[in-house]
Amino acid sequence: MAHKITLIPGDGIGPEVVEAAKRCIEATGVKIQWDEVIAGQSAQEKFGEILPKSVLDSIKKTGVALKGPIITPIATGFRSVNVAIRQALDLYACVRPAKSYPGVKSLYSNIDLVVIRENSEDLYAGIEFEKGKSETKKLIKKISKLTKKRIRLDSGISVKPISKFASERIVRFAFEYALKNNRKKVTCVHKANIMKFTDGLFLKTAREVAKRYADKINFEETIVDNMTMQLVQKPHNFDVLVLPNLYGDIISDLCAGLIGGLGIAPGANIGRNIAVFEAVHGSAPKYKGLNKVNPTAMISSGILMLRHIKEDDAADRLETALKKVLSEGRSVTYDLKPYRDDPSAVGTKEMADAIIDQLKK
Ligand code: NAD
Repeated sequence: MAHKITLIPGDGIGPEVVEAAKRCIEATGVKIQWDEVIAGQSAQEKFGEILPKSVLDSIKKTGVALKGPIITPIATGFRSVNVAIRQALDLYACVRPAKSYPGVKSLYSNIDLVVIRENSEDLYAGIEFEKGKSETKKLIKKISKLTKKRIRLDSGISVKPISKFASERIVRFAFEYALKNNRKKVTCVHKANIMKFTDGLFLKTAREVAKRYADKINFEETIVDNMTMQLVQKPHNFDVLVLPNLYGDIISDLCAGLIGGLGIAPGANIGRNIAVFEAVHGSAPKYKGLNKVNPTAMISSGILMLRHIKEDDAADRLETALKKVLSEGRSVTYDLKPYRDDPSAVGTKEMADAIIDQLKK
C-alpha cells in the first residue's frame, strides 16, 4: 500500500529542492501518495492566509510531511510559519544530523554530530511585547516593581519560557536517540551561568535525566559560547548535542558549516506520531527559480523521512546514490565545486537526475 505523505513546496528555492527530493524518493520505487498543500507566501497570495487550516489538517491525517523552507520577514510582517507548524503539531524535537560526505569540500573531515534542538518553547514561544505599547509599559513597570531592576520604558520585550516538562522531554529524546543510534555521548549546551531559572532549569533537568542513562551513555555539559569555539576547534570531540531552541537554531547552522554548508544539512521535526522533514536552510530568495541551488539537504531530509516510514532499504539505496554523485563531484551544484563560478556546475534538477541515474545502476 502507498504511504500517504504531505508535501509542502514552500517559498523561494523550496519548490525546486522539494521537487528534486520528491523525484529521487519516487525513483527508489517506494510507493507514495503525496498530498500537496501550500503554506507561506504562495498561500498568502492564493488564499489570503499564510498557514491555511488544510496544511495542518493534512499533516495530522498523514502523520508525515516533507516540507520546503518558508520565508519569515525579519522584524516586521507575519510570524514564522515554520515555528507555527512546529507549535501547532507539538513537533517538540528537532533532529539535525551533521555528517561529512566524501567529496564535499569543507575545512573538516569525518564530522558526525547530531544536534537535538528543543522546538516548542524558549524565545521562540512568540510571546513578545512591542516598544511603546501600553501593555508593554505596564509590564515594564510591573517587572521593575517585582525585581527592583530598571528596564528602559522604550524597550521591547521577548519572553523566554523554559519548562521542566519540555526540558525533560527533549533530553530524554536525546538519550533515547543516542541509544537507538549507537551514540556514546550527549552534551547539554546552555547558558545557565547567566539565565539561572531558564537555562539553569534545562541543565538541572538534563543532569537528572542523564543519571538514568549513566551506565550506557556519557553525559557532558558546556556553556554555549564555549561550545561555539570548541565546535570550531575540535568538533570530533562531540557526538549528540541537546540544546534549548535558540542555541539549537544557531548551533545547527554552525554544524552545517562544518560539513560544507547549508546546501548539505538535513533535518526532522518530531512529535508524538507525527514528523515533518525539512532542510536546515531557508528559502534563499535570491536564488529562487534559477535552478541553481543544492538539493542535497532536501534529499537527505527525504532519506531521514524514508527511514522514519521504515523504508530503510530505499533510504540506504538513495543515500548510496547521493554519496556516489557527491564523491565524483561531477554532476553537482556550484556550491560543491572548487570555485563558485565553475562552469561545470550543474543545476538543481540535473543533480537530481544524476542521483536518479545512479539509483537505477
Ligand atoms: P537561507 O538558509 O535561506 O540562505 C542563506 C544562504 O545560504 C543563501 O544565500 C545561500 O548562499 C546558502 N544556501 C541556502 N540554501 C542553499 C542550498 N540549498 N544550496 C546552496 N546554497 C544554499 O537563510 P536566510 O537568507 O537567512 O533566510 C531566507 C529566508 O528563509 C528567511 O525568510 C528565513 O526566515 C527563512 N528560513 C526558513 C527556514 C525554514 O523554513 N525552516 C529556515 C531558515 C530560514
